[in-house]
Amino acid sequence: MKKKILIIEDEAAIQNILSEPLTFAGYQVTAASDGLKGIHAFWKQRFDLVLLDIMLPKIDGYTVCEMIRQESRVPIILLTALDSEDDQIKGFDKLADDYITKPFSIKLLLKRVEALLRRTSPDAASDIIRYKEITLSETERKVTVFGDEVPLTHLEFDILSLFLKNTGRVFTRDDLLNLVWGYDFAGDQKGVNFHIMNLRKKLNISYIETVRGVGYRIAKEN
Ligand code: CA
Repeated sequence: MKKKILIIEDEAAIQNILSEPLTFAGYQVTAASDGLKGIHAFWKQRFDLVLLDIMLPKIDGYTVCEMIRQESRVPIILLTALDSEDDQIKGFDKLADDYITKPFSIKLLLKRVEALLRRTSPDAASDIIRYKEITLSETERKVTVFGDEVPLTHLEFDILSLFLKNTGRVFTRDDLLNLVWGYDFAGDQKGVNFHIMNLRKKLNISYIETVRGVGYRIAKEN
């Protein structure tokens, strides 16, 4: 089952920056655009993690954090442009689990979400993805093809995992740079081609298709 993440953030652009990569990473994302809508969404269903902006209309993030804490120990990551020590301490005083200041690296954010979820729900059974002859274990970071382990680098693993969680979807080289490397990566698109080439060699079966002029994908399983 997909883990559910609630994003409470009033800026539409940031909502999108957050929800897209989280969706690609296999989470089910719900977004709320102010503190009141956020707390209502939280009351309506169970979430595995909350990403919470501090400067919010109607009810500010600190208060939302307190309200959620009155009834739940769900992991909360505060997101904010405020980066002074006092603001961060106030965030932890309200019992947030982590704190990320804007602008943030998407890749780092995904890692933190992953780490928090691993700590709070150690049930690893849902971390296995199967696709044809491939088995990928997210927690062990292990990939097997026909039962034989294929040693992959971190980047190769992340690329494969992204493709397998979104079969049928074409990722451009820019998508991959953004989602796998993080926006602050100073490399170029040739680096992407190089890693895809190595990944194909290691898997030794032509799972990864090139979509000419667009990018790469792994087709949906028939
Ligand atoms: Ca805001």
